[in-house]
Amino acid sequence: MKFEDYHINPAIKKALDKLGFKKPTDIQFKAIPPILRGEDVLAIAQTGTGKTAAFAIPVLHMLHERKQYARQDGIKCLVMVPTRELAIQITEVFHTLGKHTRVETMTVFGGVEQAPQITKLEDGIDVLVATPGRMFDLVSQGHIRLERVEMLILDEADHMLDLGFIKDIRDVLRHLPRKRQTLFFSATINEKIKDLAYSLVTKPIRIQISPKDPVSKNVDHSVAYIGMDDKRFFLERVIKENEGSKILVFVRTKVRAERVHAAMDRVGIKADTLHGDKDQKDRLAALNRFKKGDVKVLIATDVSSRGIDIPSVEYVVNYDLPDVPENYVHRVGRTGRGTQKGKSVSFCSPEEKEILNEIEGYLGKPIKVLDIEKQDYSATIDFSAEVKPDLKSLLKEVQDFEEASKKKKKPKGKK
Ligand code: AMP
Repeated sequence: MKFEDYHINPAIKKALDKLGFKKPTDIQFKAIPPILRGEDVLAIAQTGTGKTAAFAIPVLHMLHERKQYARQDGIKCLVMVPTRELAIQITEVFHTLGKHTRVETMTVFGGVEQAPQITKLEDGIDVLVATPGRMFDLVSQGHIRLERVEMLILDEADHMLDLGFIKDIRDVLRHLPRKRQTLFFSATINEKIKDLAYSLVTKPIRIQISPKDPVSKNVDHSVAYIGMDDKRFFLERVIKENEGSKILVFVRTKVRAERVHAAMDRVGIKADTLHGDKDQKDRLAALNRFKKGDVKVLIATDVSSRGIDIPSVEYVVNYDLPDVPENYVHRVGRTGRGTQKGKSVSFCSPEEKEILNEIEGYLGKPIKVLDIEKQDYSATIDFSAEVKPDLKSLLKEVQDFEEASKKKKKPKGKK
């Protein structure tokens, strides 16, 4: 079935056409009809499946088709998300798909000044995309009123729980009308997520997308055994061998991100970092440079990367293995989007072997191993552009220096 055969408003079809979206993705095919019927939905789907449009299309349609319409009535649809980046990205999808509709979408998130957000809110909006913390602040200060909300969407609910947002979510929920439509999206499912989901939805339609092989078939992913201290040389090699490709590098911590960045800088590789210690402006600027392709290498931590839709990343490097096995899927899922092919390699040090086993357990199968021969391994280190302190040449330099000073001193002593 094509979008043109759907019963959705022509204003949205026009935007879909402009984007080149002809056929719905699996999640869109399964979620759009029940959402349009007003049912609650519980969907297990990862980023990259087209889940944003799966809820944005029907929400925009329903709001745009209203006969009696007053923006001043207040927010009609609330989308709660774990991160600022995801909030911005979802808002962009609403703006693009809703370009020819009268639906007004806005986002609020923490880490930026509150005042401009408040001014904009006062103009009246239909869809609000928000992170739970800032959202709750604005609600308790009376700047946001939620009593007219008819649709609640929780996106990446699993990630919200990981980030400890459960209390904020519950606090916000107290302000919502009981009678509403709720759409619950999560990339993974466990008991905790189920508990949260079933406390929010009523008789939901359950949708699960590709549960068997969580890594897309479009991604060629493998693991390479590399000592912790040698990883930087191999990253240098991957980057140099894939010149021109957009490469996303995942590290475990913010400090590691900066260290890897410095190591790449030493060998003349331009890169940016994306992590929670950077302020919002810098994060967005880094993301934009990467999106545009001005900087081809982005070094990121997990927290800053979930849900971000970066088009056409050719390569994902797991410089450090993720602590949580699910994150392997999220990271690798940054490449091989839609119909594109992608590649990923994970650097596994002996200390990380245990984590690799857990990831493979989660995937239900082993990850292909990239065999690196001893010679090739040392060549990678030797060919690095990094200037290594070579003891011999250092000693020779000292010797030369001493001899030169002796020669200088001699004539002085004769005088
Ligand atoms: P999401 O899972 O919402 O982050 O979407 C992943 C990617 O799929 C985005 O780059 C969308 O632009 C793209 N996409 C979403 N729906 C469609 C569609 N029906 N046809 C082609 N691409 C799509």
